[in-house]
Amino acid sequence: MNTIATDLDGTIYLNNEIIPGVIESLLDLDKYNLKIIFITNNSSQAPMEICNKLEKLLLIDIDLDQIVTPLVILKQYLENKNMMIYVHGSDNLSNFVNSIANVTTNIDESQMVLIGRKEKYTQLEVNNIMSAYQNGSNIYALNKDLTFPINEFEFEEGNGAIVKEIEKILNIEIQSFGKPDKFYSNFLLRNFENITYVIGDRVDTDILLANEINAKSYLVNSSIQNFLSDEIADFKFDKFSDCISSIIKNLQN
Ligand SMILES: [Mg+2]
Repeated sequence: MNTIATDLDGTIYLNNEIIPGVIESLLDLDKYNLKIIFITNNSSQAPMEICNKLEKLLLIDIDLDQIVTPLVILKQYLENKNMMIYVHGSDNLSNFVNSIANVTTNIDESQMVLIGRKEKYTQLEVNNIMSAYQNGSNIYALNKDLTFPINEFEFEEGNGAIVKEIEKILNIEIQSFGKPDKFYSNFLLRNFENITYVIGDRVDTDILLANEINAKSYLVNSSIQNFLSDEIADFKFDKFSDCISSIIKNLQN
């Protein structure tokens, strides 16, 4: 059995709109002994919420184990560690982290600062995170995406902007729990067998991740602006369903 790992935002859906052809192409997978898992850098929703959203949109049963998000990786990372965590991000994110670890609202007593996505961030927040680092707190990001697509034509700023700013001033590299970084690729290699194909709309996350785990990479079109050359993708298609058709066609040959 081969596994397809597919991205969500910009690949399977845009906001709450399923991308045409996705539902139909999933129906063929069983017949060809293909398993699917969903790999996203979305950390503003809990894995269970993403699972529920997908079931509703795709009209199929999905196992929670089929969903991999930075929060799944974070949860495993924090197992058996007793750390005081300060969360820079949405209330939703704080609540999730609070359910798996100790969260503090006082950044000065944190041992770990976790950077998630906020609509806007201030210079004061940047300064506070930097002084926490200088006082010995470890900084991690949920992902380093610079943008994410909100519809066919537009995208919004992601986590990456604040992370980049802090990295530049402190001259450090911040590790993330997102694609394509080590925690994420190691998690996939440890937990799934034979991830043969990766489908996604971003070169800097999906295609690089495919390379990390030695899978064939399929790049689809979306509103996202790719900062890296798409030449490193093994295959380029207009949309998800075209990738599935190509995978199946190759299996038949
Ligand atoms: Mg995407």
